[in-house]
Amino acid sequence: MPSKDSTNKAFSGRCYCGAVLLRSKMPPTTVAYCHCSDCRRWTGAPLPAFAAFGATDLTVSPEQDAGVSHSEGVTRWNCHSCGSPLMARFEYLPDQVYVPLGLLDQAADLPPALHCHSEAAYPWLHVDDDIPRITGTARDTLNNAT
Ligand SMILES: [Zn+2]
Ligand SMILES: [Zn+2]
Repeated sequence: MPSKDSTNKAFSGRCYCGAVLLRSKMPPTTVAYCHCSDCRRWTGAPLPAFAAFGATDLTVSPEQDAGVSHSEGVTRWNCHSCGSPLMARFEYLPDQVYVPLGLLDQAADLPPALHCHSEAAYPWLHVDDDIPRITGTARDTLNNAT
């Protein structure tokens, strides 16, 4: 859940080199950690976190191509200049676009509300929070996020 402070602001982000800019007038519908190995490899982070924006709320400039898919039902986009992960879309989570949280200028005000694929967490990783830990995709939870 975004904090109250963030609800009336525009949201903005960019890739490492700044060639790709992201904007949304609406706050993310949810913010979640994902412990799955695909998200870890894609981002290089031991525990990536993502902000889910409504697909029609998120503006990406310049407009991106069709993206790449290395697992069924998942499309991912990276910056063509610097390689930063930009966005992911999942067929089972229609109308949502997942943006790596670290791209966003407002990330400090967007604490994750959920751990997805928590069964895959590295054994040495200890996150001190009491937000829900869900095994698998959390698709029901994420589809019902408001
Ligand atoms: Zn870039
Ligand atoms: Zn994942």
